[in-house]
Amino acid sequence: MNPQNTDCIFCKIIAGEIPSTIAYRDKDVVVFADIKQDVPVHMLVVPVRHIPSVAVLKDADLPLVGKMVAAANQVAREKGLAERGYRLTINSGADGGQDVQHLHMHLMGGRPLKWEN
Ligand code: 5GP
Ligand code: ZN
Repeated sequence: MNPQNTDCIFCKIIAGEIPSTIAYRDKDVVVFADIKQDVPVHMLVVPVRHIPSVAVLKDADLPLVGKMVAAANQVAREKGLAERGYRLTINSGADGGQDVQHLHMHLMGGRPLKWEN
């Protein structure tokens, strides 16, 4: 499979050109481990389609966001986080701390998380 956007690291991961630990995959959504394992569970939930950020989502894309949340919930359950809780975060733009310009949601958990800004 060729990456949709050849400059995009997440498109390359989705296409299998860059190795990653994939926890979930369907035709629309992929969930893989963040390279930064700063908490016991840190996964990234991405749409297969290259969408640069949450800020440019169109109304027609909103069901895709629901599928991302459902995939995150499924992986959270599989990783034993359902009862203890977890965090889903989408960073957008420079002030939001978005470093990779392919929409992604962080799934983090496995220990109590602080809220910092
Ligand atoms: P952002 O700061 O854009 O919200 O999050 C980007 C995330 O992508 C960071 O948590 C970073 O650790 C992760 N990341 C960057 N490059 C790679 C990579 O090559 N592989 C994986 N698995 N994660 C990456
Ligand atoms: Zn991409």
